[in-house]
Amino acid sequence: MKCPECEKTSTSSRVYTSGGGLMTLGGGGRPFYDEDGKYHLHDNNVTTQSYVCSNRHQFTVKSRGRCWCGWGADVSPQVEIHAYAGDSGIVLLG
Ligand SMILES: [Zn+2]
Ligand SMILES: [Zn+2]
Repeated sequence: MKCPECEKTSTSSRVYTSGGGLMTLGGGGRPFYDEDGKYHLHDNNVTTQSYVCSNRHQFTVKSRGRCWCGWGADVSPQVEIHAYAGDSGIVLLG
């Protein structure tokens, strides 16, 4: 995970999870074992997580579950950049 704003300008930063935490919407998938006895979890829930980087960019990432078998790999995470808090500063959590 890198800050999308910092990536644009090749700036390095640390990314922290910020308030709100994980939120899931919608119905979930049931884990199952396939014909080979391998574990799958095909989870349709959308998870929203907020982040803040050490350069004070704030963004959220909405992503759907993925499975090792490739399920869900066609759906790329949605990144929303919210605000640049500027020099007034925001409190880094953690
Ligand atoms: Zn950044
Ligand atoms: Zn799977």
